[in-house]
Amino acid sequence: MPPVEPGHDVNAAELAATDERWMRHALALASRAEREDDEVPVGAVLVSADGNVLGEGWNRNITDHDPTAHAEIVAMRQAGMRLGNHRMLGCTLYVTLEPCAMCAMAMVHARIARVVFGAWDPKTGAAGSVFDLLADPRHNHRVVVQGGVMAADAGARTTWRRCRQPAIESCRPTSARICGVVRAILYPATGPQARAFSATNSSCTA
Ligand code: ZN
Repeated sequence: MPPVEPGHDVNAAELAATDERWMRHALALASRAEREDDEVPVGAVLVSADGNVLGEGWNRNITDHDPTAHAEIVAMRQAGMRLGNHRMLGCTLYVTLEPCAMCAMAMVHARIARVVFGAWDPKTGAAGSVFDLLADPRHNHRVVVQGGVMAADAGARTTWRRCRQPAIESCRPTSARICGVVRAILYPATGPQARAFSATNSSCTA
């Protein structure tokens, strides 16, 4: 949770509390990913400006044989169907892991107002760790980003049993994504330091 300094306006404290509440919801979805589908435990929930859940999901890449089925995409697809609109104006997307480039661009296309994520991902993160797509001024829409909310919980959730097993080719992508999360815990720095670390650790060592 981002620190709220003493004397800071109450809205910041309320926003931080709201972020933590929805991140707990996303963490619960992440647990279902592992428990119900044996997937990488990443969860996401999309919330409207007035606080209603429009979409939620967890990673389903393996289950659906779908490389695009990240938790964020699953949640946005559900929201699009519910809204009858591919634009999700004013919405906030909560996700337990820093979005990848694919998901970040989908958020820009959807006109998501704000994304709140848990653990940093110096392996593939596109909200400041490796790329900074959501804040790129060349887009005609920019998404407000809040990272590191309940990062320890989000990271611990993804310290998954597969990461402790020898990597095999069939689960290499999974292991690589998990390793990114573990590195996010061990090396939470962002910016040049994270990019340098990522550049020198480009292969999964699980
Ligand atoms: Zn993604």
